[in-house]
Amino acid sequence: ARRSWVAAANAPDTDFPIQNLPFGVFRTAGAPIRGGVAIGDQILDLSAALGAGLFSDLAEHAARAASGRALNPLLELGGAAASALRHRISDLLRRDGPSAERARVEAALVPMAGAELVCPFDVADYTDYSCSIHHIGRLSGGRPWPALQYLPVGYNGRRSSVRLGGGEVRRPNGQSVYPVGSGLAPTFGPEPALDFELEVGAVLGGSNALGEPMDVDAAAERLFGYCLLNDWSARSIQMFETALGPLLGKSFHTSISPWLVTDEALAPFKVALPPRAADMPSVPAHLDSPANRAQGALDIALEAYLLTPAMRQAGQAPDRVVNSNFKHMYWTFAQMVAHQASNGCNLGPGDLVGSGTVSGPEDDAQACLMEKTMMSGAPITLANGETRMWLQDGDEVILRGRARREGFVPIGF
Ligand code: MN
Repeated sequence: ARRSWVAAANAPDTDFPIQNLPFGVFRTAGAPIRGGVAIGDQILDLSAALGAGLFSDLAEHAARAASGRALNPLLELGGAAASALRHRISDLLRRDGPSAERARVEAALVPMAGAELVCPFDVADYTDYSCSIHHIGRLSGGRPWPALQYLPVGYNGRRSSVRLGGGEVRRPNGQSVYPVGSGLAPTFGPEPALDFELEVGAVLGGSNALGEPMDVDAAAERLFGYCLLNDWSARSIQMFETALGPLLGKSFHTSISPWLVTDEALAPFKVALPPRAADMPSVPAHLDSPANRAQGALDIALEAYLLTPAMRQAGQAPDRVVNSNFKHMYWTFAQMVAHQASNGCNLGPGDLVGSGTVSGPEDDAQACLMEKTMMSGAPITLANGETRMWLQDGDEVILRGRARREGFVPIGF
């Protein structure tokens, strides 16, 4: 029920009400890159707030860790420190709170419109999973891969090409056979079947030592926060090269959203894992726990929109091409993290974990073009009559995420 004295934070459609308070990094003209917290249409500049003496104890420690050019020091401290800082910031921004400090807080607010958001953390390592049985089920013509039924399937991704969304993505070159499955000889050149994948990324805090696995509840404690993630995919390169795992088909670019929405802020939107079909195996003991079963999944509505050059020129709005929800995933992030550490692999602060394409059971919840077009053999038709089998030059992909629950203030990404 809490409201903020920052007016825009109380708008019904804001992504950043006082219940969210996500962490990001930004810059303004003539000032250094620094960390902040989103509130409505403003950013609370943590350096300025520290300078104004607004924090003490653990919250001050966390604010220092979050005030630099990347959030990695805060990720090293982990969720408890971030929680102390968010509680203090919430009290400073609440409408019915003490007003003695308000002028100092106001002086530390930066309009979001006048700031440039930058990549919020240095990606330490990147793993991308494929944890939707709806996605894999459709692509494999019914039953998902045997391994996916027993474990979260993933591959080691490429951290160097993870970028903040909003910039240009270059169509990659590679060896591929096109049309996919035609049996023609491979040729080297620009990828004809460029695709997006609507995913959620989890950002890890804390660390486990090499050789020390974690159970699924300990893994859940490592989930610091989340972003939207676009796993740009070169389908014909990927299809031809994947004998051991994708390499060039995925490593050319990955986009993430600018604000890390904390695991704590998403607490009201934690839901039970969907029940497994009777013909699917039960969850293996080392990836199972009552807490994970009861609230390991996240109810986040996820959408993807396309804006083509013709739509942009005509002043048309982006067209929604995916309407899905993260609650349909077969494995939770805690299970992905516990699985990855189950062989003793060490995961550190700043590790990025991609969920895999978040497809749901509904037709409009197919969360990449491959699922929508290649499997049916037909392109999608956009609102203005244009069609797309794959992304064309100049197309813009927009991902949106928003968590809603009756009786709670919605938060977005
Ligand atoms: Mn992916």
